[in-house]
Amino acid sequence: MPLYAFDCVGCGLYEVWRSLAEYNSPSWCPACRGPGRRLYTPPGLVRTPSHVRQARTLEEKSANEPEVVQGPLPGRPLRPPGYTSPTWATPRRGRPGSPLSRL
Ligand SMILES: [Zn+2]
Repeated sequence: MPLYAFDCVGCGLYEVWRSLAEYNSPSWCPACRGPGRRLYTPPGLVRTPSHVRQARTLEEKSANEPEVVQGPLPGRPLRPPGYTSPTWATPRRGRPGSPLSRL
């Protein structure tokens, strides 16, 4: 629902939320109940920040056809080259018949 601006001769500016169907109906000042004259104002456009615009562009571009990556993505690798998991992180093998042996 848009916000319309009106001007009352006695009280000054005021704003009213109304439906598009009522865009041309008369408005009455909420203070003095006198007639208000509609003012035409520019729409409230907000500039999208550049990083948000770039992310949206990338998202739209890859929505139907994801980009094929040939090499590692830029940035710091999650694990440096030569990294080996610590012994406590490797899965253990249990004795035959125990639940761990099915891992
Ligand atoms: Zn008024």
